Amino acid sequence: MRILILGGTGDARELASRVANITGIEAIASLAGATREPITPTGNVRVGGFGGVSGLVNYLRENQIDVLIDATHPFAAQISQNAAQAAQEVGISRLLLNRPPWEKLPSDDWIEVDDHINAALVLENHAQRVFLTIGRQEISAFAHLQNIWFLMRMIDPPKPGSLIPNGLILYDKGPFNLEQEKEILIQYSIDTIVSKNSGGNATYAKIIAARELGIKVVMIKRPPVPMGEEVADVEGAVSWLLERIGN
Ligand code: NAP
Repeated sequence: MRILILGGTGDARELASRVANITGIEAIASLAGATREPITPTGNVRVGGFGGVSGLVNYLRENQIDVLIDATHPFAAQISQNAAQAAQEVGISRLLLNRPPWEKLPSDDWIEVDDHINAALVLENHAQRVFLTIGRQEISAFAHLQNIWFLMRMIDPPKPGSLIPNGLILYDKGPFNLEQEKEILIQYSIDTIVSKNSGGNATYAKIIAARELGIKVVMIKRPPVPMGEEVADVEGAVSWLLERIGN
């Protein structure tokens, strides 16, 4: 069985290394090419966009892919929609590996919003010193907030031409630990964190740190995912695949 794993996440990397040891499965992992020095998954890897739904359809046909596993980030909505459409068009199975979102605990001070635009609206009334932990793609949505100071964490520099909010950029890549995150919040006198509800452990420490220090979190809700078969973790994806090859 030939499978294509759409990646860019730790879960996709873990899945690629798990299936590398399964007889009867040949996997190719796909990366968007968005980060300059990605951590490469085990086994066959391809890099770069496919060219929309039609490009992905061609790729699936040319490479005789039997199963498409969408293990992309919960906020990578475009590629997930493309994957759903392309798999349907080619007539192959698609599985979504969708880790659960973080749940708000009673001691959390969260304001949940639908998107970046609404996150920026909320900040106008609530914040002065913000830890913006949404990566580099949507930072321009906050650039008009001239009275707020931002600490912006990202892996690679903002794209040329991006409007950059007032503040400081911190280049770093997860996983992050609780002590580090607390130190940052205290050192920069942060009063509010803006976060995507990514789920998983790699970036959850900042949410715990906010809880323990009584700091507000503006939590951006996930975009909708396409309908279809879904598992919550790598283990679930491996079991699903083993069932398909009759193990
Ligand atoms: P996106 O908006 O859903 O996708 C934009 C375009 O990038 C897609 O239309 C596709 O180009 C290409 N693409 C995305 N993922 C790909 C993959 N795994 N393999 C080949 N092409 C891919 O995605 P995004 O939000 O820019 O994220 C880009 C990548 O970074 C994703 O793979 C995602 O898993 C990872 N990531 C995203 C976030 C986030 O917060 N968005 C966080 C961590 C990691 P074509 O249309 O040309 O095929």
